[in-house]
This record gives sequence, C-alpha cells and structure tokens, in this order.
Amino acid sequence: MSKVTKEKNELDVEKLTEELLISRKNGFFDVTDKEVSKADSFCEGYKVFLDRSKTEREAVEYAVAEAEKEGFLPFDRKKKYKPGDKVYYNNRGKALILAVIGEESCREGVRIAAAHIDSPRLDLKPYPLYEANELVLFKTHYYGGIKKYQWTTIPLAMHGRIVRRDGTHLDICIGEKPGEPQFCVTDLLPHLGTEQMTKTLSKAIEGENLNVLVGSRPVRSKKGSNLFKLNIMKLLNEKYHIVEEDFVSGEIEFVPAFHAADVGFDASMIGGYGHDDRVCAYPAIEAALRCGTPKHTVLTVLADKEEVGSQGNTGLASSFMRDFICDLAKQEGMEGYEVMRKSKCLSADVTAAFDPTYASAYEPTNSCYLNNGVGVMKYTGSRGKAGTSDASAEFMAEVRRLFDSNKVLWQTGELGKVDGGGGGTVAMFLANLDIDVVDVGVPVISMHSPFEVVSKLDVYMAYRGFLAFFQEGSASV
Ligand code: MN
Ligand code: MN
Repeated sequence: MSKVTKEKNELDVEKLTEELLISRKNGFFDVTDKEVSKADSFCEGYKVFLDRSKTEREAVEYAVAEAEKEGFLPFDRKKKYKPGDKVYYNNRGKALILAVIGEESCREGVRIAAAHIDSPRLDLKPYPLYEANELVLFKTHYYGGIKKYQWTTIPLAMHGRIVRRDGTHLDICIGEKPGEPQFCVTDLLPHLGTEQMTKTLSKAIEGENLNVLVGSRPVRSKKGSNLFKLNIMKLLNEKYHIVEEDFVSGEIEFVPAFHAADVGFDASMIGGYGHDDRVCAYPAIEAALRCGTPKHTVLTVLADKEEVGSQGNTGLASSFMRDFICDLAKQEGMEGYEVMRKSKCLSADVTAAFDPTYASAYEPTNSCYLNNGVGVMKYTGSRGKAGTSDASAEFMAEVRRLFDSNKVLWQTGELGKVDGGGGGTVAMFLANLDIDVVDVGVPVISMHSPFEVVSKLDVYMAYRGFLAFFQEGSASV
C-alpha cells in the first residue's frame, strides 16, 4: 500500500487553483500556431501602414485610400443612409471618421473605436532656418512627451505641408526613400562631455538644442552674408518654389527615418516609430473595413492632437465627432444625446508593457506583458486616478464577456506603479459626452521613443477585439 494516499478531506488543489485563480501563463500558450501565423501576416500590412503614415496627415490619406477601395464615400449629412452604407468624414486632412451604417442604425447607440494618429516628434519653429559657424540648421519645438536625449544622433526624415501665401500647398517627404538625404540632431562627443555627463537626463539635452542639421555649403560669392543659409534656401526655392517666409504657414515634422522592422530571432515583435498610437489605429481601420453590415452603426475615429492634450479642432476635445453623431441622429429623427447616451466606445490607445530591464517602475501583478493580448484598462490617469474617466464595472464586465466569447486574448494592468507617473487617453473626452468608454490597446515597450516595440500577437488581438466589438449581435458573424 502506498504511503502517499490522500486523506479523505484533502482538497484537490490543482483543480481548485484552476477554478478560482487567474492563470498567469503566457498568452502564446492560449493560441494555436494557425492564429500565430495569422497574426504574423496581419502585421505585414501593419508595417506598411506604419512606414507610410508617419504623420497624422499621411495616416488620414492612407485610411481614406483604403476605405475608398472598400466602397466608402464622403459623408453627406443631407443624404439618407441605409444599413451597410459606408461613409467617411475627413476633418481637415488630420482627423478622420470611418462609419458603417448598422441594421438598427443608431437607435440603440453607435459603437466607436477611437484611436489617435499623432505621435511625438520634432516640429519646426515658425522661423526655423539659420546659419551658425558655417553650418545651416533648423530650430525645432518638440511635440508631445519625449525624452530629448533619444532624438539626437538618429537619422531623421522631414515630413509635412507648407501652404504658400497664395493658398497653394506643397507636401514634403524627404529621407524615406533609398538615396534621399536624411537629417539629424547632433550631440557632444564624450571626450568633451565631462560637464554634460554630470547633468540629469532632463537637463543634458535641452529643447533649445534640438536643432536639425540641414546643410554645410555656401553660395559661391565674395560678398554678402548668410551665404550658407542662402544656399539652402536657394535649393529649396528651386525644388519647391518656396521662400523663407513660407515656413510660417507650414506644418513640418521631423520624425525617425528608419522603417518598421521585425525584432528578435523569432521575429515575434515589431520595432518602429509611432506605434503609439498607429498600432491601435491600424486594427481599428481594418475592423471598420472588414466588419460587414453590423447590427449597430460603427465608427472608427482617428484623432489628432492626443499627444498634446486633444485640444484643437482636429482633437477629440473638439466637437467634430459629436457633431457627426448628431447628424446621424437627425437622420433617425433623434437628438444627438439620445444616441450618445446609448453608445459604447473602446478608446483604442496603447499602454505600457512590462520591461524587465526597468522592472522597478512597474507593479508586476498589475502590468501588461508582451504577447498576453490586447490590454483592457479600466482607468488611466496619475496621482490618485486624476484625469481619468474610469470605466464602470458593468462595462468592464461586458468587454470581458465579449472578448472571452470571441476568443480574443486580453489582459489588464495599470500604467506602472501608483506614484510612478501616469498618463491619459482620449477616453475622458468620450465619457464626457455620456458615452460608455474603456481603454483597450496594445502594450508597448519603450513608448514615445523613436523605436517603440510591440508584439505581433497583441497587434492582431487588438484587431480581433475591435472586430468582435463592431460585429456584436450582427447577422454576419
Ligand atoms: Mn497614445
Ligand atoms: Mn502617447
């Protein structure tokens, strides 16, 4: 007789653990190889989008072109729409709404996935061009929350638009194609960096020193001054027909010039510029394009200005999305608020992924991890949940149920330790319109850096999550 026979009342701990406790195994073990290869191929499309859409304007252009291929037409508020109709509303070329009219139209509210398409970068000042000690540079003013030291000595590309005094415009993109010149912000050599190295990270590189190197040859002349600056302006004038003052009415952004690339021997991750928040924008665009005729009208909203607080008429603190919903409501003889109070939104924005190299910044139990699926965050904010809309328990339960029943791999967590810092998303602006909203997005390592990292599996699960949300209750699933 064995000595290890169980006593009668002893509990089956393994079974009990499985029933009662959250399992913490890596999400990879929850999906089949087929799902993994679907994720990998989905991300091939994402990488193309990432390289083509480094600014908000480029992201809108891409999304409009893809939507038109799928039959989307510009929204006409005077027109009566029927289920299955696909429309888009282009807000000044910098924000976009894609909408698919549902079987029930908007009587039971609309379903919204709201992502942002602006990313941290270096913007040009109004008078950017200057020469100093026989070099020509651009003065910049950084946009969004950056660690300034990360933006020195990396190849930069110049993107954006200049509108001339006569209203004609010019779209610029230099430094992306092979053979094109690139640009950079310089840094001090370590040999002479003794004093700089004693400074804190936030002081070592100052905003006023983020100057972009753009030239070093003068106009050939024995007289005159500013010959170096003049030569660069002459080149720009020949190529683009602009004069120095035209920069005043320009929106020029310097962004990392490198392209999205697979990361790791297993190619399981993607490194690139602007995952925040194009890694949610792309799945949200794809979900709108592929959702068929949904039960409820669905909206993918691509907003600008999130990285600077969502203010401005292309940001979600403005009325452009609300007015769009009001137009839909009017078609049904309803008031906008009647639709909004029944509407639901996934605020599609990234969250921080646990980074073992900086483990002390995270609380391991309540963090998101790479490859564990799309993150569902009840709240964001900082210093005691300040500045967050905090989703209701009821809506959290609804999203859990939806994702579980559609086999969407998901996880939850907070943005680092309680007093470690924090951040916000567009969620509160939608919540303020009386819409139920929760943050759902892809976890990112090295967020806001020039080369952010995400997991392919998580990107795909974001798409699956948004698609399940859009298709809920519809006949097409
Ligand atoms: Mn974001
Ligand atoms: Mn951000």
